[in-house]
Amino acid sequence: MNIFYDRGIYVEGSKVRFVVDPTGPIKGSVDFVLVTHGHSDHMSRYVLRHRVVATRETFTAMSIRHGGVPTRRMTVAPGDVVEVDGAQIAVFEAGHILGSVMYLVEVDGLQILFTGDFNTAGTILTDAAEPVERPDVLVMEATYGDPAYVFPNRAELYNELLDVVEKYAGDGGVAIAAYPLGKAQEVAKLFGARAGAHASVARYNRAFGISTSGGGDVIIVPSLRAAPPRRFKIEVSGWYAEEGLRRRAAEEGVYGIPLSDHSDFPSLVEFVRETSPRLVYTVYGFSERLSRHLRRLGYRAYTIPGAAGLVKFF
Ligand SMILES: [Zn+2]
Repeated sequence: MNIFYDRGIYVEGSKVRFVVDPTGPIKGSVDFVLVTHGHSDHMSRYVLRHRVVATRETFTAMSIRHGGVPTRRMTVAPGDVVEVDGAQIAVFEAGHILGSVMYLVEVDGLQILFTGDFNTAGTILTDAAEPVERPDVLVMEATYGDPAYVFPNRAELYNELLDVVEKYAGDGGVAIAAYPLGKAQEVAKLFGARAGAHASVARYNRAFGISTSGGGDVIIVPSLRAAPPRRFKIEVSGWYAEEGLRRRAAEEGVYGIPLSDHSDFPSLVEFVRETSPRLVYTVYGFSERLSRHLRRLGYRAYTIPGAAGLVKFF
């Protein structure tokens, strides 16, 4: 069996060939496509022509982003075990955004777990991702795979956000910049009917049944650039776990809060420890740094090979 990354995670078994989270045109013929969640860096428009396995929420995001859903599609939910083209696929909560899942796929007698983006801290929007015991191969994201990224407890982050809003909302209102699919729904839920939303956020909120009809002192915007003038600016992003970035943002009048929908570095390492795979492939973000750290801890861990470097590992 081969696993490699080429704008998507490709798996070639003796009887099946598929891709997970393609971000561009799909290379060669595939039996099916697995999509872990609706972010654009996990779901290109090219998936529409293929047989796709995804959750209801991911298909909703797909239809908003790409204007349609594939004709050949299988809708799954956490807890499901399905069979596609002879491959057995188990579905687990990924805790990243609404509808995000991890897939455990059996290929040639080997269990491979694809995490997509995942968060082991539960939020008011999603349940936590739980470790899946002892797959042969773990293909995991490494967005925050650097020791600098340690996130505070989520309840503390919620309190910080609520406090900052209380402090500044009376003076012309606040604008909270949050990624339109994911944290925008979490922030909307935190503020309930009080919050209003920019159109690009509102269309996702509406699709997921989360109300942001308030137009008062709190508005959720997709980016700082979209913040109305004179509003106090807040941005939620895991990158603000880095003190220097928070300070630089403050100098420009932006209050940064390290609210992330990914696992932080210690949680990534803990997930590997609890999952205890025979082989780890890291992908996205600090994949090199995380795999090196895992090797030092005694794991067989590598950055996922590219198309040019097919690796046969069993
Ligand atoms: Zn994502």
